[in-house]
Amino acid sequence: AKRVIVKVGTSSLVYSTGAMNLKAIDDLAFVLSDLVHKGYEVALVSSGAMGAGLSKFGLDKRPKEIAMQQAVASVGQMELMNIYNARFSSYNQVIGQVLLTQDVFEYPESRKNVTNTFEMLFKEKIIPIINENDTVSVDELDHETKFGDNDKLAALVTNLTDADLLIMLSDIDGFYSDNPLTNKRAKLISHVPKITDEIMKQAGGSGSRFGTGGMLSKLECAKLLLNNEKGMILTSGVEPRVLFDVVAGEEIGTFFGK
Ligand code: ADP
Repeated sequence: AKRVIVKVGTSSLVYSTGAMNLKAIDDLAFVLSDLVHKGYEVALVSSGAMGAGLSKFGLDKRPKEIAMQQAVASVGQMELMNIYNARFSSYNQVIGQVLLTQDVFEYPESRKNVTNTFEMLFKEKIIPIINENDTVSVDELDHETKFGDNDKLAALVTNLTDADLLIMLSDIDGFYSDNPLTNKRAKLISHVPKITDEIMKQAGGSGSRFGTGGMLSKLECAKLLLNNEKGMILTSGVEPRVLFDVVAGEEIGTFFGK
């Protein structure tokens, strides 16, 4: 079976008003369930817990205090999984929650346990829905970290599970020669075989209100994957059904790989 990891950013799951984008979540559940029915092994790395928590708390931006952010994420994780479970259930698809911290990848013992869990979930045709364990780790919440918004987590999971491909659904439809938000003449680059210094210079920061990753973080992930002979596709999460075409091998967004 072909093993695919899909990462979806907050901006694809939460409207700029702060409300949950139920259509996007439903479409995602539909596509991923269908792919599993077709024999693919699929895992979803999903952000959005903070966004879901904020709307539950009636807040329009992240609180300053880290402990409060963690509390919001804790409530939001439930809210998010609640919605996912309802939508995936309607397509007869079972999901499992996997909350990880980065140290898990460094300790052989925990690494092995996580690997075994993933293998069993895939074998049972269950879709793991993965997020950073915000109660334990503040990496995702910290704006200063180089890898934000679950981007790095998705790359680590792709390597750990030896998946064939990481598909990043973002608020932008690919990697451009410059930040398209600030440069209207920026052009989409459809294939990046190597992350050079020049490529790194073309990346700017995050474009969305809730997103924290930005393009640099995506390029760091692509680098991590290319070092392991793996590929990554960056495309827009506005229409999750595009995933059908992506796994079918159509040229969509930006392909990082050989
Ligand atoms: P998400 O969380 O949805 O994945 P991010 O905000 O982390 O989205 O990253 C995507 C954003 O990166 C885009 O909206 C864009 O503003 C910004 N960006 C900076 N440089 C580039 C570039 N060279 N090509 C494309 N997007 C870029």
